Amino acid sequence: MTPREQILAWIERDRDELVRFLSAFVAIPSPNPPGDTRKAASFLADRLRSEGVPIEIRSAKDHLPNVVGIFEGASLGRHLVLNGHIDVFPVGPAEPWSRDPWSGAVEGGKVHGRGVVDMKCGTSASVWTYIYLHRLREHLAGRLALTCVSDEETGGTWGTKWLIESYPDEFRGDCVLNGEPSVPNMIRFGEKGTLRLVFEIDTPGAHAAYTHQSANAIRIAADLIGDLYGLECMRFEQDEAVRRAIEASGPAIDRGLGAGASGILNRITVSPGVIGGGLKINMLPGHCRIEVDIRLPVGLKHAAVMAQVETIVAGHPAARMTPVWTHSSEPSVCDPEHEMVGILKRTVRELGREEPVPAVSLGATDAKHWRHRGVPAYIYGCTPNNMAKADEWVDIEEYLHVVRTHALATAAYLGA
Ligand SMILES: [Zn+2]
Repeated sequence: MTPREQILAWIERDRDELVRFLSAFVAIPSPNPPGDTRKAASFLADRLRSEGVPIEIRSAKDHLPNVVGIFEGASLGRHLVLNGHIDVFPVGPAEPWSRDPWSGAVEGGKVHGRGVVDMKCGTSASVWTYIYLHRLREHLAGRLALTCVSDEETGGTWGTKWLIESYPDEFRGDCVLNGEPSVPNMIRFGEKGTLRLVFEIDTPGAHAAYTHQSANAIRIAADLIGDLYGLECMRFEQDEAVRRAIEASGPAIDRGLGAGASGILNRITVSPGVIGGGLKINMLPGHCRIEVDIRLPVGLKHAAVMAQVETIVAGHPAARMTPVWTHSSEPSVCDPEHEMVGILKRTVRELGREEPVPAVSLGATDAKHWRHRGVPAYIYGCTPNNMAKADEWVDIEEYLHVVRTHALATAAYLGA
């Protein structure tokens, strides 16, 4: 049997086991916030140890354990890092779930529960890829590392970023494969950036009848928001290969994320998310606060947008602006024509599915931590059914497809 046939045979034999594993993983709550991932991390570590693969826990903070491992192939070669997160979105009190969000129920050909698509499906694919490839290590050239991290939902400071910076030899790698939801007809090679800004507007305020005495802070906020929307037309330079790939992915993005998604993919979007001001209808407000979320296309940098924002704010002397850098990140991108993209395309096609197209994602993932350090990082995962909403679910066949794709692509990259 070739390594490819062997991997496919193992996955076929382990079908029920793989489904039970995902179901049990989902049934261990790991919402972030509050972000205590100890139980779910122990579940992964115990299972990996029982399979006889090298594994350890590395934690920057006690309640944020990262489950990691690394092994060598039979000869020298490249270093691939598998990456997935253990933490998931919280469950809101008002979310209308039709079953317990932490049931992990297996029903109707689906696994149900909070975090199953974002991203316990993809993290399970990384775990099983690591297990299967370890058994085939005599056929591999290079090294394979596993990083199951604890705090992706809050930016990755004590998970991915900490691992890369503290243990670069083990976890920086030459290339990264990650199973965040992507829709199986897309390979993500980049993601838009975020820029979060808070504006405070202060005026003297007055009685509502005495509008001659003070500027209205809410009126200024409204004008400011109007001006910020003007950023959506901002022009920027973009690498030609990236531009071509983004343009070619348009139809797939619209199919995957709904009509209109391709229209916002390659430009700035502005979204005021919070507004507060005023005390009473007959009082002219002297204060207003707005929080604005701005998304940057690949090719645009914070500095360029900030320069425009500063010009806008200067036009409203009563307004002050504070960037929230802890929740902002530059867009990230890597080569859309990299060897791993070719491997993923071929692997998916050979598994009998539509060849995926390289695309940029609207949301952010831990892949950015590698891309910002010049390491190409690719995402291939399941459809985000009800992601961050009630009744999140993954199709079992799609889950198994993601496991097959990750295991086969890893084997191909490491020369099996
Ligand atoms: Zn995620």
